[in-house]
Amino acid sequence: MRRTVCDLHAELVRYNLVAWTAGNVSGRIPGEDLFVIKPSGVSYDELTPENMVVCDLDGNLVEGEHSPSSDTAAHAYVYRNMPEVGGVVHTHSTYASAWAARGEAIPCVLTAMADEFGGEIPVGPFALIGDDSIGQGIVETLKGHRSKAVLMQNHGVFSIGTDARDAVKAAVMCEDVARTVHVARQLGEPLPIPQDDIDRLYDRYQNVYGQRSPR
Ligand SMILES: [Zn+2]
Repeated sequence: MRRTVCDLHAELVRYNLVAWTAGNVSGRIPGEDLFVIKPSGVSYDELTPENMVVCDLDGNLVEGEHSPSSDTAAHAYVYRNMPEVGGVVHTHSTYASAWAARGEAIPCVLTAMADEFGGEIPVGPFALIGDDSIGQGIVETLKGHRSKAVLMQNHGVFSIGTDARDAVKAAVMCEDVARTVHVARQLGEPLPIPQDDIDRLYDRYQNVYGQRSPR
């Protein structure tokens, strides 16, 4: 899991979702009340499986020589309150954060959005780092919502998934559609997709598309 989470950080760099040391990936350790997360303030080039840190679901350091990411409390809150979640990602990716800065949800105007997010990508509350308010905002917004990503107002993106890789995919797709819908907006008013078509696309993509493999 340390290697998996370490390697997934390279995807954030590859897809241009992060600057300097901002952004982080975590993955729940199956069958344990533990997760692996990025160490705080270590540059992406210096991440190794060995310097990843292990925390419990209260965000306390369990194993590792570095202190955990400053966003650890938010990740821990999500794992405590959403048992189905196996991975969490946080970025300040440019286009998605631009939507967050305006406090505007990304409307579902692309079939790729219907596929991946099942509708709009919602906005979560403005919340300051330091206590559970970011985690609470993420959980309140995403619980019972199809979207695997939330735009935390004036901040950036948190995404969730069945595992860490799934959460990274949601972060990548969130930035991709944020950019496309932004560009569409510059040219005019994007056309909405009827709700029953969104439902059909979402159902097909989630249940039929791709290679079936036992999980
Ligand atoms: Zn942040």
